[in-house]
Amino acid sequence: CGIVGYIGESQAAPILLDGLSKLEYRGYDSAGIAIYDGENIQVQKAVGRLKALSELTHDGATMPGISGIGHTRWATHGAPSNQNAHPHYNQSETIAVVHNGIIENYLKLRKRLEKKGYQFQSDTDTEVVAHLLDYYYKGDPIEAITKIMHRVEGSYALGIIFKEHPEHVYAVRKDSPLIVGHGKDGNLIASDVPAVLKYTRNVYFIQNEEIAVLTKDAIAFYNVDGEDIQKESTAIDWDI
Ligand code: GLU
Repeated sequence: CGIVGYIGESQAAPILLDGLSKLEYRGYDSAGIAIYDGENIQVQKAVGRLKALSELTHDGATMPGISGIGHTRWATHGAPSNQNAHPHYNQSETIAVVHNGIIENYLKLRKRLEKKGYQFQSDTDTEVVAHLLDYYYKGDPIEAITKIMHRVEGSYALGIIFKEHPEHVYAVRKDSPLIVGHGKDGNLIASDVPAVLKYTRNVYFIQNEEIAVLTKDAIAFYNVDGEDIQKESTAIDWDI
């Protein structure tokens, strides 16, 4: 029920854990983070309180890396469990996805992907997104993301990392909230503003079917056709 993402100069895992703690009010049953460690995408998950994930990762210290995504889950499809907690991978573990919302046509998509040989690890609706991205990914993440936007029905806020594009964090949304924070030492995504306020007050509100691509010092936005769009940031002047 909460999403965070970070890419910048600092270690990502502690920032993701801190951001998730600011989203705890949204409710959740499990949590997880994915970090690019310089070679691979590492994932850690824990059922229950965020504290369990913090302990498992020694407050993020066991997961070095400067980019990643995190999630607190409020189960809609599949019981609360380690297996069903996000992030979810594609089979080769080169793409990791966190998701808020519900993929309404996930069963149809899952059956089609299984016919093509994709093996699922969880009972979630979310996992179809990871495999569908894998199916459409031919080297260009924006192309893969716009393609899945045409196939997926329902609501989603997604944070995505690709092993082949480690200097980017990708985000897209439809009918689930998502914002981008533009910080001095890095950029962030989050379901809600409080998760980023410690790092920046400069925020972009992502609209339906808009894609954000973060590098450590820049943010670009695209529409569902993969075309560049310009967005204005908002200065947040309230406190938490
Ligand atoms: N529908 C997804 C699941 O059950 C995401 C739930 C959420 O928004 O946390 O895993």
